[in-house]
Amino acid sequence: MIEVVTRKKRKASKSASKRRKTKKELWAEYGLERPPKPRYSGLRGIVWFLLSLYVRQRDLKAYGPICINCGKVKEEFHGGHFIPTGECGWDGLALDEKNVHAECSYCNFRDKAKLNYARNLDLRYGAGTAQALRDRYYEYKHSGNQYKNLTQNEYREKIAYLQALLEPVDN
Ligand SMILES: [Zn+2]
Repeated sequence: MIEVVTRKKRKASKSASKRRKTKKELWAEYGLERPPKPRYSGLRGIVWFLLSLYVRQRDLKAYGPICINCGKVKEEFHGGHFIPTGECGWDGLALDEKNVHAECSYCNFRDKAKLNYARNLDLRYGAGTAQALRDRYYEYKHSGNQYKNLTQNEYREKIAYLQALLEPVDN
């Protein structure tokens, strides 16, 4: 009887160490509490979460609480893409912090032209910045999809890179 119990226990602990990490545990590995609905699953979701946090910290510190597109003072910001994620097609642009800035929700969802976004990118980083991002997009579009999403290891590298840039915050 005792023997049976022991075997069962051993089996249970073995499967516990082998089983896949839960979503919550994956986030906890990076000291993060998983938000209720991450935008993407797995490591990509963590990269996006940190990237969005980082660009908002970066822009607030450098320019104050203003939207990159309309320039209005706001209380809340999104991590808003210049080349939209649906168009980016691959992580190289979708998860590039030069393509993502503190943007108000109105501009993020309603302003597709992003003309002021382009102008402000050039003011912030130098003339030609917006065009360089567009060029990367067109290059991708005409490359026959040679660009792929990042690998799991590249996601891990990007997470470490972003965590080093981030100021400590309560998640
Ligand atoms: Zn705006």
